[in-house]
Amino acid sequence: MHEIPLSRPDITNAEIDLVVQTMKSGRLALGPMAERFEQAVAASADRAHGVAVSSGTAGLHLALLALGIGPGDEVITTPFSFVASANCILYVGAKPVFVDVCPRTLNMDPEKLAAAITPRTKAIVAVETFGNPAYMDEYEAIAQRHEIPLVEDCCEALGVSHRGRRAGSFGRIGVLAFYPNKQITTGEGGCIVTDDRRLANLCRSMRNQGRAIADARERPSAAEAGAAPTAGAIGGGGGSVGSWLSHERLGYNFRMSELNAALGVAQMRRLDEIIRKRQHVANMYFKRLSGHHDLILPTLLPETEMSWFVFVVRLGGPGAWTRDERDRIIAGLRRHEIGASDYFPCIHTQPFYEALAREGQVRGRAGDFPIAESVSTRTIALPFFNDLTERDVDIVCGTLELMMSRENLGRG
Ligand SMILES: *Cc1c(COP(=O)(O)O)cnc(C)c1O
Repeated sequence: MHEIPLSRPDITNAEIDLVVQTMKSGRLALGPMAERFEQAVAASADRAHGVAVSSGTAGLHLALLALGIGPGDEVITTPFSFVASANCILYVGAKPVFVDVCPRTLNMDPEKLAAAITPRTKAIVAVETFGNPAYMDEYEAIAQRHEIPLVEDCCEALGVSHRGRRAGSFGRIGVLAFYPNKQITTGEGGCIVTDDRRLANLCRSMRNQGRAIADARERPSAAEAGAAPTAGAIGGGGGSVGSWLSHERLGYNFRMSELNAALGVAQMRRLDEIIRKRQHVANMYFKRLSGHHDLILPTLLPETEMSWFVFVVRLGGPGAWTRDERDRIIAGLRRHEIGASDYFPCIHTQPFYEALAREGQVRGRAGDFPIAESVSTRTIALPFFNDLTERDVDIVCGTLELMMSRENLGRG
């Protein structure tokens, strides 16, 4: 028996060489690698501007700030996602308003989204759940009709198209993420993409302590020498650092280091290969599991491709399987050293969201979103990474079937 993890990054010598080369260059922050990385990501999303940041979450935070979303505003989003897609709304003091999902695509139901818009709605944060870009064009049309911005949380959807348009190209602003379980990784990292130069420049400034836009990309002499720019500046770099210590607005340190960016540059060069490998792994799962009457496999609408982020199956039919049974199946897989997980528990049922809903700072509580709630108690994310072998897929699926039949027997 050998361990099959839930996910595993795909790092080759090309990545290692470029990171080492960058370390030897002496420039570890605010250098050419981050610029190269953001250009590659922006091009892949068919956007004019990319702003590399320290995480997808930081990117979402800056996107909402740049759009001027704040206290008193409501922002519509999905309850069935990684928590960051709603947390960014809380960071800026706005109120998340949840809308239920479509049971097939697991993305927000466009009709329910349209019905939830009120005069207080100031933005939509839409998520390509598990890499599925379904309805992005419909969300875009709804946002345009109401003259509010669409923010695309495409953190799970790198490199995919929907009706001929790339994920990341639908909203006013989009955000991608590069944690090690994503399609490509920078270790930690994210990238904001947009066609709007003003928004891009605002994000550039805010990721770099609110420095003036021109200076935000300028590197002071201390950085040229390889030291952290602020160390030189704090040490009394004086005139040589120019306006390095002049801050135009409240900013953050959400920069991406050159080492992370170098990893990302090498990964982006391999993007087509990586997407092909992931499609191959998804095909193996489909071949092995389709026709299984107790499992619902990822559902693609005819016009949709999927950027395979994870492979999430669902135990069939509401009422047929309980959450406890699902949880025991996951525990059983893990006992067999197979990485499996319950992607995702609903955001609005996280205890701190329930508390915020009671205080009126969040709209939506348990019972309000029956589809998202029912789906989230029956999902199982299976191991998914580029080099997963056919034999591993067979072990995972065989063990899954064994655990499911044990539960069936246990019911008597
Ligand atoms: C991964 C992810 C993020 C951002 O994650 P970070 O770990 O901050 O990079 C945001 N939203 C969704 C839907 C994600 O899957």
